[in-house]
Amino acid sequence: MRDKQGRNINYLRVSVTDRCNLRCIYCMPEAGVESLEHDDILRFEDILKIVKASASLGIKKVRYTGGEPLVMKDIDKLIYETSKLKGIEDIAITTNGILLADMAEDLKKAGLKRVNISLDTLDKDKFKMITRIGNLDKVLESIHKCLKLGIKPIKINTVLMKGINDTEFEDFLNLAREMPVEVRFIELMPIGESIKLYEDSKVNFEEIIREHSELIPIENRRGTTAQLYKIQGSKGKIGFISPISCKFCADCNKIRLTSIGTIKPCLHSKEEVNLREYLSSEELLMTKLKSAIINKPLEHHLEEERTSRTEKMMYQIGG
Ligand code: SAM
Ligand code: SF4
Repeated sequence: MRDKQGRNINYLRVSVTDRCNLRCIYCMPEAGVESLEHDDILRFEDILKIVKASASLGIKKVRYTGGEPLVMKDIDKLIYETSKLKGIEDIAITTNGILLADMAEDLKKAGLKRVNISLDTLDKDKFKMITRIGNLDKVLESIHKCLKLGIKPIKINTVLMKGINDTEFEDFLNLAREMPVEVRFIELMPIGESIKLYEDSKVNFEEIIREHSELIPIENRRGTTAQLYKIQGSKGKIGFISPISCKFCADCNKIRLTSIGTIKPCLHSKEEVNLREYLSSEELLMTKLKSAIINKPLEHHLEEERTSRTEKMMYQIGG
């Protein structure tokens, strides 16, 4: 379905939980967050109902995220049921990779097509510093497991931050040289916990690309948010995702569903449409969804305002 700007909205991101087994410095407060009551979170059946209604409005791709999607009980069943819905062509997850090695086989059997694994550092101690509790080996094991299972593509999400992990840029290039994965460097966005880190940590991708003549641009697939590059002889690719310096709102094809049941037509807008009260009526659910899609905001204002307009945190919305 098209929004009023004429953008074809065919991609739904679902935050299945706001709980997480890590506490990344730019995403969650150190003390963690108060867990929502069980009743405040959408149930498995509610998520499916909304995904089904979305599919009938033209959503073709679903990404389960969070918080950490793999801490949700029955995530494999949710993927399986989603794969049976008419109109859904692609199911992906974004995960921190801690639990993935043990679950990847079941998830693939359930119908998972692709994974994005978040990994901001290849250094064990720094990994502990950034995630506050994580074990890097678990994530690396997950990447190897997904490669072994033939899950394709595997994308590595790396939020590049000055003074924190920017010195590892070359190490990540080497990862893309050696492994058939797409390493995607992502600009830190000033939202939630990262607002306080933003000014000191932002990096200039254009400058980095200019300084690395070994990066060979490749033509972008349609609808991709990353500027893609290859290195001579590399098994993998490198991408740069610049939501602020190279805004892609004009091509945005996404809406988001939060774990409490609100649709966020734009990540950085305050606007939300609460679907919980319409779950018992398919007709009303569709009407509300349609109106959320049609009225999707034109664009974000991160560059001018230096902060997101949303009051929600990334772990509540899902990246
Ligand atoms: N827990 C899962 C994970 O970390 O992959 C899924 C949820 S997490 C919110 C999704 C993605 O958002 C991660 O790749 C994370 O690095 C990214 N992210 C979180 N806060 C961000 C920020 N302020 N700017 C840019 N990316 C951010
Ligand atoms: Fe958890 Fe993902 Fe946020 Fe890190 S980025 S705290 S793994 S939700």
